[in-house]
Amino acid sequence: MLSNKRRGDQRSRRKSRIAAACSLPILVMIGLIRAQSPPPGGQAPAVPPPASRQPLTSPAKPFVMIDPAHGGSESGAVLNPTLLEKDVTLALARRLRQDLAGRGIPGELVRDDDSTLSTDDRAARANREHPALYICLHASSLVGSTRVVTAMLAEEEEAEGEESHGPFLDWATAQSGPLQTSTAVQQQLVSSLTNNGLRARTLAAQLRPLNNLIVPAVAVEVAPTTGGVSQLVASDFDQTFSSALAGGIASLLSTLAGRSGAFQP
Ligand SMILES: [Zn+2]
Repeated sequence: MLSNKRRGDQRSRRKSRIAAACSLPILVMIGLIRAQSPPPGGQAPAVPPPASRQPLTSPAKPFVMIDPAHGGSESGAVLNPTLLEKDVTLALARRLRQDLAGRGIPGELVRDDDSTLSTDDRAARANREHPALYICLHASSLVGSTRVVTAMLAEEEEAEGEESHGPFLDWATAQSGPLQTSTAVQQQLVSSLTNNGLRARTLAAQLRPLNNLIVPAVAVEVAPTTGGVSQLVASDFDQTFSSALAGGIASLLSTLAGRSGAFQP
């Protein structure tokens, strides 16, 4: 479940902050990237010596990072008395990894058990390993509410110009660079799901850890199309949903590979 406030397709930006489900401090040092604003009246912050500078990006590795949201002590939504969101997302993630493998695309799970991970942990891993695509999976009990989400960057954070200081990026707006590609992924996945009878909508939201990622990133919230939440664990539904996602990802990555040579399924 995406328990933060959400906005629609219009991507209109406003200054009010939207509380995130797994909110982080707006500026968190992750070692790799961090903006430092100069003190009032002071000098610009010292930048690391050339030998220790980290590049903003590194070549994309040919794999998809699949992140089953929640886990461990953080169960996510209680979809019914015996069905927790963290278990639905893990099962779907494993299925998606299998379906991607069938298309020649390596998939790596952020968690492959019931471990507890913060969104800091998830973002740091994705930024460190730099997959071609990061996809986070959530689940909802609300019929017909399947969504594909991209980051929404707060206006004031962009306006403050904190996003770029030499080799550093601002933690809260790290997604600004790849956001256009993330949006292309979003459109492709919605199209693929819809073409498979799984109507989905696009959404822009300030959802952690999407804002903090320097790679193309989306979140997908799977929801039942009819009936109750038991559909989410029905084998045929799981298969159809996962296959639709894998098809969309394969199509998109092939397009990106043609553009940059970064990925060739
Ligand atoms: Zn969730």
